[in-house]
This record gives sequence, C-alpha cells and structure tokens, in this order.
Amino acid sequence: MNDLTDLAAVAAAPPAPPKDTRKADFEANKLSKRLHHQVGLAITDFNMIEAGDKVMVCLSGGKDSYTMLDILLSLRKRAPIAFDIVAVNLDQKQPGFPEHILPEYLAKLDIPFHIENQDTYSIVKKLVPEGQTMCSLCSRLRRGILYRVAGELGATKIALGHHRDDMVVTMLINMFFGGRLKGMPPKLVSDDGRNVVIRPLAYVAETEIERWARHRQFPIIPCTLCGSQDNLQRVQVKKMLREWERQYPGRSDNMLRAMSHVVPSHLMDRKLFPFTTVQATGVADADGDIAFDEEPCVAPAAPSTVRWQPGSTRDTEE
Ligand code: SF4
Repeated sequence: MNDLTDLAAVAAAPPAPPKDTRKADFEANKLSKRLHHQVGLAITDFNMIEAGDKVMVCLSGGKDSYTMLDILLSLRKRAPIAFDIVAVNLDQKQPGFPEHILPEYLAKLDIPFHIENQDTYSIVKKLVPEGQTMCSLCSRLRRGILYRVAGELGATKIALGHHRDDMVVTMLINMFFGGRLKGMPPKLVSDDGRNVVIRPLAYVAETEIERWARHRQFPIIPCTLCGSQDNLQRVQVKKMLREWERQYPGRSDNMLRAMSHVVPSHLMDRKLFPFTTVQATGVADADGDIAFDEEPCVAPAAPSTVRWQPGSTRDTEE
C-alpha cells in the first residue's frame, strides 16, 4: 500500500472513539465477564438450573432483578443445556407504580412474561397499624402469590435477585436479632414444599450490580413507593456492612466464604456435633482445639490480609 492508499484507508475508517470511551468500554467488558463468571459459577456450584427447566425470573423493576434477567438470558445463549425463562412481575398496586415500564421492557426483549396484578398494598395498609413496618406481611403475601403463579406457569425453578450482600446481611440480621446462625440459601425448596427457589446472583457484590445497571441503563423503578423502608434493620445492617467493606476491603467476600466453610465442632450446636460424647483419641487432628486462637491482625483501610481461599478448611488460626 502506498502513501496515498494509506491516507485513503485512514480517511475511510471510522474515527477512533475518545480515550475515555475506550476505557469505559474496557471496564464494562471486564465487569460483564466477571458477572457472567460469578453467575455461571453459582449455577454450577449449586446445580441451580438443569436441562428442561422452566425458570421463573422474578422481576421487581430494581437493579438486582434486571441484572439477574440480563445475565441469565445471556448465559442461556451459550449454555450447554436447554432451559426456558419466563419473567414475572407482581404489580402490588403501590401508589405511583409505573405499570407500563416492565411490560414495555420485556416486550422489547421478546421473551415470555407475565404481569400478576394483585393489590397487596391495600391489604397491608389495612392490616398493619400506622407506624409499623409493613414488610413482613407484604413479603408473606408476595411469596404466596409468586408460588401460586409459578405453579400456574409450570415453572420448575423460581429465580430471585438476592445477591452476595443480601446473603451476608441476612446472616448478620439473624445473628443480631434472631439468635440464629442462618443465612439466605442459594438454592432451597420453598416453605410450601412445592417450588425450588434459586438465587443466581449469590456470588455477586451489590456494587457490581449497581455498576452493571448503570452501564445497561435499565429502566429502574424506585423501590420506596410503599414508604416503608427507611427504618428497616436490613437497611441499617447494610450500611454497617458497606462501612466495614470500605475500611476492610474483602470482608464481605470473607463472610460469604465463611458461610460455605462451616466447622460444626467449633460452634455450639449440639444437634450438629456430638459434644456430649467427645473423647480424646490420642491421634493428632488439625481440626482439633488449639487452645488459644490467634487473632488476625488487619489494619483498617488496608486490603484484608486474611482471605478465605476456595477449598480452604481452616479459619484464621492459620
Ligand atoms: S419495602 Fe414495601 S414493598 Fe418491600 S417488602 Fe416492605 S412493604 Fe413490601
């Protein structure tokens, strides 16, 4: 190619995008890969979706459920197994709920969807005294309706958009206020025994979902329409977790890993470990009692030096 044809080729080529745009595209691409990897891993680790499943993806109009649907649709295109997706939104008739947004969004995606109209808002308003939180009754009603809809649609799995931070916060709430070491399961049979609930975002950090929602420009519906959220314990604990994460990056991940590396002999549940019949064996055991735990020394605002590694069976004693 001579100089003239070089120039012609340059002139014909589209102008290179500005440097900032290229950097943003690069970051979005990295984030996309991470989200696909984490969702794919959670699905595989817990065998969330099997061939022939019909997955009912519950869509609230918030960033979490949009992200879940987005990534699941994308993963389905390259999945080695065939499964169906049906998106479901429960319109609870909260004042000001923009009911056109989700049908329009889903119609554009060209996927099967169902909008269930049930005025749970009025029921909750009528039954819950003024000033008390409505969430408990609201969630119970919503749960029952979604279980019923899943049956009517022939769904084999119900996918909810809870993410890593929800799972950790739930564990903390149960510890702080419920006296139980109990989190939010990535996959479990529903309490009516008829449905299998899955949480494909189990490994995904909320901050990553926020970034993805901004990048994809989802038409977010505000979640404060019922006016019941401000004083929730969940909101308070979430703030605390965010602050911890700011001071000690990696703490939320460590807590999530802790939930999958439970050591019953080092807790106090007599149903999980036979403490009353324990006898010395004379055989050294790395999982035995080490008398005094060594506390990890982690400086504030520095990356955590004590990170759980996948597959590790020991905790911070090491
Ligand atoms: S925040 Fe509102 S919509 Fe959500 S569970 Fe509570 S009462 Fe129901």
